[in-house]
Amino acid sequence: MSDKIIIFDTTLRDGEQSPGASLNVQEKVEIARQLDRLGVDVIEAGFPVSSPVQYEAVERIADSVEAVVAGLARAVPQDVETAYHALKAAGKYRIHTFIGTSDIHIQEKFRDNRYGKSLEDKRVSIRRMAEEAVAFARTFTDDVEFSAEDAGRTDIHYLAEVLEAAIAAGATTVNIPDTTGYTMPSEFGAKIAALREMVSNIGETVISAHCHNDLGLAVANSLSAIQNGARQVECTINGIGERAGNASLEEIVMALKVREDFWDVHTGVRIEEIFNTSKMVSAFTGLVVQPNKAIVGDNAFSHEAGIHQDGVLKNSHTYEIITPEVIGATRTRIVLGRHSGRHGLAVRLRDLGYHPTEEELENIYQKFLDLADKKKEVFDDDLRVLMGDEIHRQEETYELESFHVSAGTNALSTGTVSIKMGDQFCRESAIGDGPVDACFKAMDRALDTDSTIESYRVRSVTAGREAQGEVIVRVRSLDRVFTGRGVSTDIIEASVKAYLHALNEVCRANQDEEAVLAAAS
Ligand code: MN
Repeated sequence: MSDKIIIFDTTLRDGEQSPGASLNVQEKVEIARQLDRLGVDVIEAGFPVSSPVQYEAVERIADSVEAVVAGLARAVPQDVETAYHALKAAGKYRIHTFIGTSDIHIQEKFRDNRYGKSLEDKRVSIRRMAEEAVAFARTFTDDVEFSAEDAGRTDIHYLAEVLEAAIAAGATTVNIPDTTGYTMPSEFGAKIAALREMVSNIGETVISAHCHNDLGLAVANSLSAIQNGARQVECTINGIGERAGNASLEEIVMALKVREDFWDVHTGVRIEEIFNTSKMVSAFTGLVVQPNKAIVGDNAFSHEAGIHQDGVLKNSHTYEIITPEVIGATRTRIVLGRHSGRHGLAVRLRDLGYHPTEEELENIYQKFLDLADKKKEVFDDDLRVLMGDEIHRQEETYELESFHVSAGTNALSTGTVSIKMGDQFCRESAIGDGPVDACFKAMDRALDTDSTIESYRVRSVTAGREAQGEVIVRVRSLDRVFTGRGVSTDIIEASVKAYLHALNEVCRANQDEEAVLAAAS
């Protein structure tokens, strides 16, 4: 029997740290349920102490899935205890505590003299904090993971010493993160192999790899770790995450699957759910998958050259090592129309991995009927954006009541918007460079915002002239980037909705921050 590789999914924690990818609680719960269906072993649901929204998301996910739910905690008692409280409703849960172990992390993050004056003294304090946090976490659960942050750049002797202490204190998984995506595959693999030699109690624990993609090597490094004895990998759907992202779950899983002849390991992932999961994460985060992305990119199964097309028609194996059906992408698209009915819609949404409530289903059904009137054929991608739109609609401070534009050749473009805030209406007009700009200016005036637009993108959700347009707007406010999405068969309406959505996100973040400040004071 081959060894099982534990798939630790961190889409909802590290993945959500992608600039502009913030998800609301309900979106996180939907994604978590889909990850459960995908068959991942551990779902890292968030960092509970970091904000009330994170706490709530972890708590809700703990209550909604079968997989082990993990919560992140710095190696300090308050973080560990807060993680426990957020997780305790889960059937199975894991406290994941971490501390920086590289010289640069130790000297910069623990600069304060209370951690010691010299690097040597500080190293002793860090090791003790790791030990104490793990031991404290073990008082709540017997599933505790310890991460030596920036292990990729940590001195191997010190790393071995910290891991040995963490394992002695009760860590059941030790994670070796290449936090900065700095190592080369053979080097990272050698590090894992060396630790297996140097850490005397390593046999009592599972070794995990957590790789970042700054040099495009996250998946290669993860595979090299597996080859050298790691039995857990931490990864995200579509490889989203901080900066250049994390190791991509679908690439690791498919590399192990397609090359079963090469590997003597397996995963518990139901690969036929990969496509739906990728689509859901992309739709909810607004992070579009690059077309040439391995496994889940739009072009991953397209053949352009005549010789290739001819070969694939004769036998797909001539140029394909994976067929789209294997990951749950069908070559023939399923189409709904207005006669499909509420039940047909509900069944299809469920097949795509969504769990709408009765009320949401009713709202989506009304939107679906509108859409079916406009474009006759409704595709899966249309349903995904409707679902994203519906879930986003909740918890919004500003709602669009109406807008009006006037534009044309040799005419001034004007936009008028009416935005509902509670029981008040804010109405403004503006002139702009085209109707979208005019509406955005009117909205800035109405809501008195100081955010700047970093990017604006329109795409057609499906083919055809009646297709829905999806607009993604990225807005910078203070030091952060917020993403707004809007969808409509009218791209000006989609634009207005997207911008308003981004402004709602800004507003939500401000409220969140105020709540943190209020709790701290
Ligand atoms: Mn990370």
